[in-house]
Order: sequence, then C-alpha cells, then structure tokens
Amino acid sequence: MQLERLVCNSCGAPLEVPPSANFDTCGHCSSQPQIRRTESTTYTELLTDLVEKTEELSEQIENLAANSELTAIDNDWRIERESLLVRDRHGNSHVPTKGSSTAAGIMITLFGCL
Ligand SMILES: [Zn+2]
Repeated sequence: MQLERLVCNSCGAPLEVPPSANFDTCGHCSSQPQIRRTESTTYTELLTDLVEKTEELSEQIENLAANSELTAIDNDWRIERESLLVRDRHGNSHVPTKGSSTAAGIMITLFGCL
C-alpha cells in the first residue's frame, strides 16, 4: 500500500499515512491532524487549532459586545453626570461636594430667615 507523506501541522515531523486515513496521530507530538485531500494535494489540518480559533473568535465577539455595552452605559452616565454637575462662575463644571451643598443649604436657609 502506498503511504502518503505528510508533515505534522503541529511540530513539523513527517507523517506517513495510508490513503484511506482521515486522521492520524503524530508519533512525535501526539497531536491528531485531520487529513484533507484536494485533487492536487493532501495536507493536514489540526482540529484542535480550529476549535481554539473558534473559541478565540467567539470570545472576541463577546468582548466586543461587552465593550459596546459598556460604551453605551458610559455615554448615558456622561450625559447624566453633565446634568448633575455644578457650574462655577468660571463656567467650569465640577462634581458637587458635600461641603458646597451644605454651604448652599445654609445660605438658602439664612436668606430665607432674612
Ligand atoms: Zn507532531
């Protein structure tokens, strides 16, 4: 029987497989490349690589989705924050502090008394 000479995708070791084989186990690194045949060529493809790539991709997509969600929340918060900010006489906005709110409260109360 004629053996096909292939190269392990994982470690580059030579593989000799019977023409009917669809999988082979590398004797060198014990990975299990799938054997692909086209009309002109035969090559090996590591299934584990494909699975890893697919997992990597779906992870990236999840990250992207999470990121755009975060961006949306961030934008909402930025808009809300802008409306909560106190503007000083220089037109600079800043986060109201407890102190300044209390002072404003006292001032309003004092003016109310007067
Ligand atoms: Zn190998």
